[in-house]
Order: sequence, then structure tokens, then C-alpha cells
Amino acid sequence: MDLVARRAVGRQRAQKKKGVAALGGTLALLAAVVAQGHALHVGKQRSLRLPVRPGRRVSRAMAMRLNPAKFEGSELTITEYPMPVLRERCRDVEDFDDAFRQTCKEMMSIMYQADGVGLAATQVGIARRFFVYNPSGNPALKVYEQVVVNPRITEYGPRCADEDEGCLSSRSDCCAGKVRRSEEIWVEFVDERNRKKKTKLRGFEARVFQHEYDHVEGVLHIDRLSADDRASIQPELDKLVEAYGPGGALLLAPDVAAALQPPVRSGRMPAMPPKDAPKRAKKKAAAAPAKAGFGGAAKRKKKGR
Ligand SMILES: [Zn+2]
Repeated sequence: MDLVARRAVGRQRAQKKKGVAALGGTLALLAAVVAQGHALHVGKQRSLRLPVRPGRRVSRAMAMRLNPAKFEGSELTITEYPMPVLRERCRDVEDFDDAFRQTCKEMMSIMYQADGVGLAATQVGIARRFFVYNPSGNPALKVYEQVVVNPRITEYGPRCADEDEGCLSSRSDCCAGKVRRSEEIWVEFVDERNRKKKTKLRGFEARVFQHEYDHVEGVLHIDRLSADDRASIQPELDKLVEAYGPGGALLLAPDVAAALQPPVRSGRMPAMPPKDAPKRAKKKAAAAPAKAGFGGAAKRKKKGR
């Protein structure tokens, strides 16, 4: 997954307006996060697309790709919508051998190289139930790295949040959209050495987990967009489908879609505030456009690596 917490981006924009350097804002946010003992809301803006080097010629098919065709240190590459493997409901991992652990390592590396915060097995063409993530997106913060194998979400908390999400398997800068996720989840899984884990996740990490968990169930973030939001990005998806050619797996089965947890949002607009809501709340909603933080030219320029 290469999602950016919208509120973090909104905060940075607000800080810029106030004349505070964006870097300072990020560091302050990071410091606040570290002080809380977790990195679920790191506000580091990450470019979602590798910059095209000046003068570099790319074919149309390559230009359509979000990711490089080849990553350093691995033969694996990222699968992109509408490749059928992305729709597979995966089988459990059974062999926890050195080869499997090496695959997990390579996936973690590919995730960083692609500027993501999570990567599922189907996204490298493997139809098995495992994924890797690091909610900080920072390779130096290894303490937040997690390999998740044969996962189950045993409970979804009742509180939900709608945030922008993109995916390394689709063009995040134009296929991102608001996705409703539970703010708290209870999960069980094993790690790459088959050691049992049982924990509660919350906030951004819970969102990352739910996004990657969807992948091993054959569900994509675009399946969770409201009908209106999906319609608005459909032309971009159509371009990916055309570039792929015949045989793509476009849609989620209706019975799977109907069973999604939490249920999909039904409308484009957030709920209207009550009539007596303070004006401040309205202003805040207007200041944060729906696509904030996803792959804009300004952001790509800023990245510089
Ligand atoms: Zn994804």
C-alpha cells in the first residue's frame, strides 16, 4: 500500500500556510509520534510515483506502469491492475523455510524501493496469504517492520474513518480515493518463523493491515470506493485495462463485495455537520481537498530521490 494519511498532509499544508517549514512540521509530528511510542501517524509525505528522469525515453506501456519493471536485489516485480493474481483468494503458507524468508526480505526491500508502506504476496505474483509492512515507510525504522503470514482479523472495532488510500498495484496519483476502515482491529497471524502473534492494532497501522489483508483476499482498495468515487476514477482504470490487454480480472465478485468489513461507503460527500456545528469545523472540511497528498506534481518535485 502506498497510502498517505490525509490528515497528516492537511496538517502539513496548514503549517506551510502559517510559514512553518514543512520539514520542521514533519519532524515535530515525528517527534510527537515517537513520544507516544508508535509510528502510526507519521506525517512524512511520500511520493507515490517514481520521477521520470529528464530525457529518459519510455514506451507507452512503460509510461502506464506505476512501478519500475525491475527492482534491485530481486527477480520479483510488482503486479498491476487488472492482473488476475490480484483477484486470487490466496492459500495459507505452509513452508516456513529459508526460501520463504528470503522472499519476505525481498518484498520488504521492493516495498521501500517503490515508496510503499505495505506489500502483499499477490502484488509480486504469489497467491499465498502473507504480506509485509512498515507503517512509517522508513527503512531505518526496522522496529516497525512486520511480516504477516496466514492472518485473520478476528474483530473489527465499531469506529471507522474515511481516509485517502492508494495502492502500488494501481496508479495512486489518479486512482486514489476515500476508503472506510475500522480504526481498531484485533488480529492473529504468524511471522516468517511461524511464531504466533495476537494483537490489537489501531490508527494508521490498522489501516495498512486492513489494506494488505484485503490483497490476500483478492480485494483491492478500488473495490471499497463509493460508487460515485469509483465512477470518477474509472477512466483511469480503463486506461490500465487497455494497457494490460485481454484477460484482466476487473471486478470483485458481488458476494465478496457485499461481505466487506467495514461496509463500503455509499456516497461521495461526507455527512453534513449538524446545523449548530461551529463554523470552524466547516472551514476545516473545505480546506482539505479529497485528493490531497496523492502524487501531485509539486509533491513529486519535492521528493528528489
Ligand atoms: Zn495495495
